[in-house]
Amino acid sequence: MITNNFQPQIYSDLKVRFYDLFTSKSNRSFEQFLDEMTVEMTKILCPSEIGIYIYDEWEDKFHLKSNATPDSHRIKRSPFTLSEWVEFKGENRLWDTEILNGYQLRNDNNDHSNFVIPLKVENRVFGFLFLAFSDFTFTKEFCTDLQAIGFEVLKVLMKMESYYRTLDEEKKYELLFRVTSKFHSSMNMDDVLAEIIDTLREVYPKFEYYLLLSHDYSTKRDLPIKELMYDQDITSKASAQAYLTGQIQFEDRMDQRKSCLYAPLKGKQGVYGVLQVIAPNSMLFPDDDIEFITLLANTAGNALENARLYQQSKRLISDLQLINETSHKLNSNLRLSETITYMADQIKHSFDAKEVGFVLFKDEEVTSYQILEESTEYFHTAEAEQFIHHLNDRLSNHQDALFIGDFSVKNPNLKCDYQSVMAIPMIQRGTVKGVVIVLHPTPYFFSFETFKLLQSLVHHSTLAFANSMLREELEQLVRTDYLTKLYSRKYLDETISDSISQGTYGVFMIVDIDNFKQINDRYGHQVGDQVIVQVGDLLNETIGSAGIVARWGGEELAIYLPRHSLEQAFAIAEGLRTTIESSTNPTVTISCGVSYWRGNQDNLKDYFIRADKALYEAKEAGKNQVRHEGEMGCIQY
Ligand code: GH3
Ligand code: MG
Ligand code: MG
Repeated sequence: MITNNFQPQIYSDLKVRFYDLFTSKSNRSFEQFLDEMTVEMTKILCPSEIGIYIYDEWEDKFHLKSNATPDSHRIKRSPFTLSEWVEFKGENRLWDTEILNGYQLRNDNNDHSNFVIPLKVENRVFGFLFLAFSDFTFTKEFCTDLQAIGFEVLKVLMKMESYYRTLDEEKKYELLFRVTSKFHSSMNMDDVLAEIIDTLREVYPKFEYYLLLSHDYSTKRDLPIKELMYDQDITSKASAQAYLTGQIQFEDRMDQRKSCLYAPLKGKQGVYGVLQVIAPNSMLFPDDDIEFITLLANTAGNALENARLYQQSKRLISDLQLINETSHKLNSNLRLSETITYMADQIKHSFDAKEVGFVLFKDEEVTSYQILEESTEYFHTAEAEQFIHHLNDRLSNHQDALFIGDFSVKNPNLKCDYQSVMAIPMIQRGTVKGVVIVLHPTPYFFSFETFKLLQSLVHHSTLAFANSMLREELEQLVRTDYLTKLYSRKYLDETISDSISQGTYGVFMIVDIDNFKQINDRYGHQVGDQVIVQVGDLLNETIGSAGIVARWGGEELAIYLPRHSLEQAFAIAEGLRTTIESSTNPTVTISCGVSYWRGNQDNLKDYFIRADKALYEAKEAGKNQVRHEGEMGCIQY
């Protein structure tokens, strides 16, 4: 028991013991260290109860950090605020000023003298030392001694604090180093974001974290991602500010007793998002933590930038590959239908499109158009018609491509199940040839990059597209007769040759209009032309898909009927003869010569000559009749 002031010996003993404690190298925690301090103080000062309380800035509370014996009733074990301490001590309101301003002696009911010795330097409160003595006589000197002891404890504490803080910092920066090397080994944005969150959870387990990213960031991972708002309410003001200025921002939510920190995820070329850190029960973020979080956010920003650039370059390469492959394929002389099918497949596959439509404008008039067969199903429905009309209208006003993310919102009166719309005009030498339409039901499904890529794809394909079209038009021209639109003689020749070479034989006939010269003479050449067209149409209608009808030359037409017997062909020719006589205006009649393929020894030239001969016989016999070579029943194919 101490009854008077400490002996100077005791005081210097304490100092020595503290020093020993401090310099002895062992791996104890801060708490263990404080505990050992109280043990040493107990040995020398012999208090009945002793406790070191440390103030936690984050929580604004005092924590008992040393151990207390079970019978220490005066020691408050759970963390408390300053006002709670006052309540704990009940009747005497002077306690709060004691913690902050000075120690006081209080005798309690059980004759204990209790001391609160503030551990405080300038304005910073570290905590306080609590000592209770039983059977104690207070002297003025003792107060001075306690003050000196408090000061010693404080000095040790400050040293220890900076030591542990250095350890802490070291640990944090080790973590930062580990994270940085992980960031640099990853080219995946999700991995980088997950790593930021994991690191923060390790360093500040009590905080909440969110990643504020722009709406086009999507991930399958379970990450605390929120959409970054630029223009909304006040709550998002600081986050927007952090994003726009690239500077760290703070926001105190007094009502929720929360502090928010917004650290921009900043790279060299821009800001990629904002990291929101929410600290509960707190007023201010200490400078060290701000520095650490800023460093982490910057490192993450750089890593995100790298990952994004990497993904961008990967996408650019695949975009180029797509364009290259498509152009190559389109330039390899595909048929128009193959060209379009190929493009539709590429677009569906590369852009995840639901529908792909190809609309061709007739004569560069957007009001009259044709939907190519190769377009997907939707484009052939009645619903699509109105929709295409609408798009064409918009395209006709300006030749710009359309990129729409929410079609129904802008066009509530138009029924359309597709919200994401891209329409790229096919422009060649300044004129719009058609439009490629790409659709998806989900709003904002296509990214702007996709739109740009589609534009470039269509741009690169339009020439190949136009070439295919031109070539097919030309082929059609060569294949058909200008006046009658019947097949040309050349095409007929080729078809018969093909048919024969494939082992399919048939009957050939030449149809000649009787006395046609007179028609010309009487009605003029133009009516003559119309008569040839009339006869051609009638022939086409009758023959249909059974064979092909061609213009042989002048007022002579020819028919090839594969897989027909002479009898069948004769009957058809007879039918034609009567139809023409009754259906033409001015009325004309025809004569017809029929030949059949005689087998391997036969040749095309003879095949035609024999029909011509039969025709001559018909003319000779008085016209308006059908003649054929050979006997009925003579062919057995
Ligand atoms: P036939 O009964 O012997 O066949 O007598 P035809 O008058 O029909 O025969 P011909 O060969 O003497 O005369 C055929 C005429 O058909 C001669 C030519 O001026 C005319 N012609 C040939 N091609 C066309 C054409 O494309 N348009 C018109 N209007 N006349 C044509
Ligand atoms: Mg003739
Ligand atoms: Mg004639």
